[in-house]
Amino acid sequence: MTARPALFEWTLAPGTGKAVPVKAGQILRIAQIEGGQCVDFNCFNLHDYKEFMHCGRTRTVHGFHPSRGTFLWSGPPRERALMYILEDTYGRNDVLFPRCSAYLYESAYGFDTHTNCHDIQAEAQREYGLTPDDVHDSFNLFMCTEVSGPHAATITRQDSRAGDHVDLLALTDVLAVPNVCGADVMRTSNFSLKPIALSVFAATAAEIAGVPKVPILRSQRTPRDFRKATIKADRELRADPGYVPQFANAPIVTTDVAVTLSGEEMALLRAAKLPLYGDDDAAALRDILFTWWEERFLAGNSGAPAID
Ligand SMILES: [Zn+2]
Repeated sequence: MTARPALFEWTLAPGTGKAVPVKAGQILRIAQIEGGQCVDFNCFNLHDYKEFMHCGRTRTVHGFHPSRGTFLWSGPPRERALMYILEDTYGRNDVLFPRCSAYLYESAYGFDTHTNCHDIQAEAQREYGLTPDDVHDSFNLFMCTEVSGPHAATITRQDSRAGDHVDLLALTDVLAVPNVCGADVMRTSNFSLKPIALSVFAATAAEIAGVPKVPILRSQRTPRDFRKATIKADRELRADPGYVPQFANAPIVTTDVAVTLSGEEMALLRAAKLPLYGDDDAAALRDILFTWWEERFLAGNSGAPAID
């Protein structure tokens, strides 16, 4: 990997970010120079900025700390894998916390002007015509977080070292936007801001072939499938007088369906018949199926997110 020629190289100075086009089949490496620096990250479809990385979707599929072997997903209705985490030498990333913002530093610390991820992202994205409203929830690289209670999460100090890096393989053409997190008054980057090295390389055929296969499903829709495909160009919201609702499954029709169970399946059903369900066999069956699905396809699995 390191012997490969770099197609692009850049040093992110503290207080800055950089918008970097990464074509499908290329790898963006984000590397520590001194160590101990958090990097916030945004990612857009290079040809349609309305599709971008969705931290909620990614968190649901891969858990709170996506690392090597997981995907960066876009949100519904696209729900595509935009990038694949090919390598992660430190292994501590976060999708629990939002980007830090100017308001955070003023309200919590009294700084009315302070480096912050939102404003750095906005300035970096401006090179490609995006506005401050286009900055999305960040994927926080080299950020050590943990769930500290039933309703709380905390940030802890980190010990990433010089040379630690995350390699993101683009599965489609993207605009990747990493920035040096502006938090020097928190444990996020151990109370100081340090530079970060960026480079783009071509992936090998073997690396591309090694990406787990993700099924392409009919429910993944693009603007070609939208009833309204154009982007609204003004800011005021007004009702369309010609609007007629066309919800896909409305009105809801409920039909009883007979299901034949094997003896083994029937035993599972009996075992799952908690008081919660009373005599409702169908509810118990749905719970069994959901548990089966959850165990196979939710957080912590290899990344394959759907039943094929
Ligand atoms: Zn930040």
